[in-house]
Amino acid sequence: MLDELREIVGDANVLVGTDAAAYETDWRKRYTGKSLAVVRPANTEEVAQVAKLCMHHGVSIVTQGGNTGLVGGATPDGTSTQLILSLARMTHIREIDTANDTMTVEAGCLLQSVQEAAEKAQRLFPLSLAAEGSCTIGGNLATNAGGTQVLRYGNARELCLGLEVVTAKGEIWHGLKGLRKDNTGYDLRDLFIGSEGTLGIITAATLKLFPQPAAKVTAFVALNDIASAVQLLSLAKAELAAGLTGFELMNAHSLALVAAHYPQLAMPLPLESPCYVLLELSDALSEPHAQGLFERLLEHAMHHAIITNAAIAQSLAQSQHFWLIRESIPLAQAEEGLNIKHDISLPISRIAQFVESVGAQLEATFPGSRLVNFGHLGDGNLHFNLQAPRSVDHAIFLAENQERCNALVHDAVHARGGSISAEHGIGQLKAASLAHYKSEIELVMMRSVKQALDPQNLLNPGKVLLK
Ligand SMILES: Cc1cc2nc3c(=O)[nH]c(=O)nc-3n(C[C@H](O)[C@H](O)[C@H](O)COP(=O)(O)OP(=O)(O)OC[C@H]3O[C@@H](n4cnc5c(N)ncnc54)[C@H](O)[C@@H]3O)c2cc1C
Repeated sequence: MLDELREIVGDANVLVGTDAAAYETDWRKRYTGKSLAVVRPANTEEVAQVAKLCMHHGVSIVTQGGNTGLVGGATPDGTSTQLILSLARMTHIREIDTANDTMTVEAGCLLQSVQEAAEKAQRLFPLSLAAEGSCTIGGNLATNAGGTQVLRYGNARELCLGLEVVTAKGEIWHGLKGLRKDNTGYDLRDLFIGSEGTLGIITAATLKLFPQPAAKVTAFVALNDIASAVQLLSLAKAELAAGLTGFELMNAHSLALVAAHYPQLAMPLPLESPCYVLLELSDALSEPHAQGLFERLLEHAMHHAIITNAAIAQSLAQSQHFWLIRESIPLAQAEEGLNIKHDISLPISRIAQFVESVGAQLEATFPGSRLVNFGHLGDGNLHFNLQAPRSVDHAIFLAENQERCNALVHDAVHARGGSISAEHGIGQLKAASLAHYKSEIELVMMRSVKQALDPQNLLNPGKVLLK
């Protein structure tokens, strides 16, 4: 089979042994597998030929983009029988249609390259996340990635109008339509988005573009509690309307980690409050107009005692600095050591009570641990992570407490109508939890879809659905 693969993609693009190693461990270094080989096709036709060959030999395919996923979805198992299909060579921007405000790109394009190509055409592609320099648009769509601009522009699903997909049988579905309205039966595009490589291989996508804002201004504010942050969100939505493009929560523990591991990043405000919010306003008029709107909002918030302190960025560089602080939190957490991650979402109206009550339970159950709570509060999405106490070996803490901690947090989320995976997906990390929290009818429907599109279970088996 390796010889047949070499015929399709060329010798240099079939990697085995140590050459494959970098593809076999996930970004968080929590999963390491062993693949049959890594294959790197150059175009959709080659992907289709590889899929056909895999079907013929009964070999399963683990599709991989930038390998930045956080749930082990792109890592093979340890049997040396699964093929990693890397789309890293498929990086063409096929078309930019400014009159239709769309662009069509291949799945292996880095998210940052997509943003830059849109910018060159004087448009905005708003999907934005800290991994944008390494993750691919195919991976973003396969995980329905969220990021920092969902509040205004929606997640990856909302930004995609059409897909090109190679099926488990190696057929090519040409669904690259740039239509905003198309009610012709079941929406196949939406089935593949968020399916984490278990239903098909996304090879290209048609994406929505937006006008570039004339100005972007950010503010960094201090608050006494999460309830105040939720109040500030309501006020900001009312005063800034669609101009509000970012609303990120950072609790004291998350900023303390950034300060400890990246001391060169000066904090805009003294670190003496329980929580902070980074707000971003995108304005169609001008920077002075945006500054004026922000000043009025923050004056009102101060007057109503919703915030206790605030700094408005005075330049683009300062705005970028504020964002860098926020984006450094997951990196600082990784520097600090292993931690128990939760990527949850809740109705915004229930978040303050959730944080207060579950935060207290975690403190009581795992004394000395640190709740690193940050994330996209504007979307009801928190990264509600537990860092081991300073004095304890992090690996031992994780091994002993992860299961209990996950059950405590996820049961509480489930009871309040929330989700155990807001934006990172299920992969292998949460496959058992999915089976536990989804209703039987949901699982039956999901299994039927999987069976219809991948009857031999060759596409990323063991991810999302356990069986
Ligand atoms: C520092 C950091 C910050 C992050 N911040 C965010 C954030 O704010 N919001 C957020 O949503 N996520 C975030 N993520 C995780 C996020 O899911 C990934 O960064 C990204 O969406 C995955 O893209 P990728 O190309 O790296 O995919 P990979 O990791 O390679 O793959 C992810 C999954 O998609 C599948 N897949 C990949 N490409 C394809 C394809 N072409 N066709 C079919 N299936 C495919 C894989 O099989 C796997 O199941 C962050 C990650 C890091 C490391």
